[in-house]
Parts: sequence; structure tokens; C-alpha cells
Amino acid sequence: MAEQDVPFRDKKIETASREELEKVQLAGLKKQVENGLKTPFYRDRLIKAGITSPDAITKVSDIRLLPFTTKNDLREAYPFGLLAVPKEEVVRIHASSGTTGTPTVIYLTQNDLNLASDTMARSLTAAGGTRSDIIQNMMTYGLFTGGLCFHYGAELMGAMVIPTSAGNTIRQLKFMKDFGTTIIHATPSYLLHLHAAIESAGYSFEDLKLRKAITGAEPHSEELRCKIQDKLGIEVYNCYGMSEMNGPGLAFECIYRAGMHVWEDRYIMEIVNPETLEPVPDGETGELILTILCRDAMPLIRYRTRDLTRIIPGTCECGRTHRRIARFTGRTDDMLIINGVNVFPSQIEEVLLRTHGVGASYFITVEKKGVLDKMTVQVEITPEMFADDARVIHALKDRLCQEMAALITIRPTIIIKQPGSIPISEGKAKRVEDLRNLP
Ligand code: AMP
Ligand code: ZN
Repeated sequence: MAEQDVPFRDKKIETASREELEKVQLAGLKKQVENGLKTPFYRDRLIKAGITSPDAITKVSDIRLLPFTTKNDLREAYPFGLLAVPKEEVVRIHASSGTTGTPTVIYLTQNDLNLASDTMARSLTAAGGTRSDIIQNMMTYGLFTGGLCFHYGAELMGAMVIPTSAGNTIRQLKFMKDFGTTIIHATPSYLLHLHAAIESAGYSFEDLKLRKAITGAEPHSEELRCKIQDKLGIEVYNCYGMSEMNGPGLAFECIYRAGMHVWEDRYIMEIVNPETLEPVPDGETGELILTILCRDAMPLIRYRTRDLTRIIPGTCECGRTHRRIARFTGRTDDMLIINGVNVFPSQIEEVLLRTHGVGASYFITVEKKGVLDKMTVQVEITPEMFADDARVIHALKDRLCQEMAALITIRPTIIIKQPGSIPISEGKAKRVEDLRNLP
């Protein structure tokens, strides 16, 4: 494709020199430190690190003087410990999926939301989206950012958006056909599911105007992308985001689909060794650390995403100067992503610990059932409960299933085991078996 055919939303900033980008980053970083000093959470930490004013930061690499922030810190700061503006200025909150114990919540002002939408619109444009597109968003609407944050970005770009949200495949297909949907946004597993459903519902691909799919929210392989592209005859783009960083689109593939550009005027990225927290050389895999520069309501400085990736050295054919990251290879913590929903084994444990009649041992298995993920939790019950009649045990099973579904938003299969039947491992307990090969 000729250079002039590469689509841009804001060519000046998307192709800015490193020097120009660093100027923007430095101003943004100072602002985040200034905002941080206004929050109860960061004030102490920054002062402890010897940072009492934004003037302590004179170059982008001074970011290393600042403390890291973790998901747990966000929980500790819940609900308003990270608020840097008067409460009346906040117009929306979002939360991470699968962290309903104490959720990790973000707050946004109207200006923050405008910038989040603009980032998303920029990403969609980079992937070749235009105002003539009809975009069907199959991600869950609600606290999860994949719904609303994607939606507003697509609207800002000028596309017609169909907010079908997740699930109800028959209705999804009907809308796709009747409205001539050209772009869909869904998890990789759902894209596979959709492919199977198109065939079994008797639709033909010629009935559909689909040309692109935007996918993300969970790890997936290049092979899976190729498979979906081949089966559906469309282009599939990888999109990375997380609620803590304003949702999808913080890193996105351009039309060359050769890694995801991180929008470096809005985020500072570092890749560090997860053990030493020291930077790794470009091209080497490490944990992605992000600092958001495009949000006033809530600063997040050197946030440990736990996601493992590497910088792709060299420049992209599209001419963008914002560096690219490779597909994620995993996480540094035990978070599972099940059909796009984040689940921590500790959440399962939380339900078990508060339930009468249940022992301390459990075992989680995650596997593929068709194209979707299925989670099974084996639970040991106490000897007293074991002696009870079958109806009581059945009721316990139902209750566990409901309580877990309420906490993690997906329904696991519960298998009740007799006392002492789940082996106790020596050393660090192995409580999870993930039988899915990366799709
Ligand atoms: P949430 O805050 O619920 O949106 O979850 C964010 C997490 O989902 C990230 O930290 C990643 O672990 C995962 N994730 C999001 N997008 C992708 C992607 N494109 N590839 C792999 N994992 C992803
Ligand atoms: Zn590019």
C-alpha cells in the first residue's frame, strides 16, 4: 500500500519524532505527578520517594524515580483514594472484570472520557475503520470497558454502532445480516463461536458484509488470528487494553498487522524484568509497565500490568513512530482469563471459605468445550456434610455455583468431592490446571 493510503486520525502526533514524543511525555508525566500529589494514595508514596513536586522530574527517564503501582494498591485505595479532582467532576466509573471482591475501579472526567474515545477512534482508524463502517460491538456493556469505551470511540470516528453487547448469537447474526455490519468487536473465542454459528444457522458468508474483526481481552495466538481470517474471509486486528488504562485501544494494530502500536503520547511504557523490576533491552520479553498520561481524575503511575510482552524493534511500514509490542505470551500472576473474563483463584477460595460444610481444598480446571472455555471447580466437603443426604449436597452445589457466578460473572461446574480426596501438594499448592492450549 502506498504511504498516502495509510489512514491516520492525527498524522502529526502519530508520526511525531521521538524527541517530540518525549516532550509530550515529559509534560504528561509531570502532570501525573502533580495530580498524584493531590491524592491520598500517592501523596505519601511520592513524598517517601523524595518527590514533593513535579519539578523533580526533568526528563522522561526520571520515571524510574517513581514508585510502582499494583492491582492490590488499587483495591486498597478503593473507593476514592486515587481521586485527583473534586468528585463532582467525575462523570463515569469503570471496573475490571472478575475483581468483584474489592473491585479495581477507575474514575473519569468528561475530558478524560473524550480523550479515551479519541484514543479508541485513533486505533480504529489505524486499523482501516472509517465513518462508512457499521460496527457491531459484541463485548459486554457495563463496568467492563470493552463495551462503552469501545462504543464511544467508534461513534466519535463517525461509524454507525450497533451495541448488541455479548451473547445471543442468533440475534448477533440477524443484526449483522440485516444492517450489513462491516466490523465486529469480540473476544477471539467468541469469533470462533460465531464462525461455527454462521454455518449452523444456515447463513452464508456472502449474506454478510463483514470485512474486519477487532479482537482482544484475552491472549490468543497468531495461528488463531490466521484461522479466523481464513474461515471468515476477513482481516482480524489485535487490540490491547485494560480498564485501569481506560479500556481497549491503548495499543492497536495498524493495517500492516505486525504488532500493536502503543500510543506513546498518551501512555509511557516500560518493559521490565518482573523479578528485578529493572528494564530489559528492546526485543526482550518482560512485564509491561504503563503510566497513563491522558487522565486527570485518577493518576496511575508505573502500573504493573502483569502482562508479558516485548517491544518489536524497528519501524512499521505505516510510518507511525509509536513503538509496537508483540502478542502477549502470558502473565506474571495467577489470573486466568476465561471467555474474556478475569478470574483469580483467590476469588473461588473466597466463596469456599465463607461457605459452611466446605473444606479448604479445591482444584480448578479450565478447558475448551467447543470453542468456548469451561471452568470446573472440584470442592471437598466436610465429613459432616458428606454424611448428609443427597438433597443437602445438591443444594450446596447450587449455592456454590450461584455465589461464584455472582462474584466472577461466569458459572463454573461444581464437582463435590469426599473429604481428603483432593491431593495436598507439597510446597506451593497447585490449585489450577489450564488444559487449554493457547487458541
Ligand atoms: P480488563 O481490565 O478486564 O479489560 O482486563 C485486562 C486484561 O485482559 C489485560 O491485563 C490482559 O491480561 C488481557 N488482555 C486484554 N487485551 C488483550 C489482548 N489483546 N491480548 C492478550 N491479553 C489481553
Ligand atoms: Zn504500523
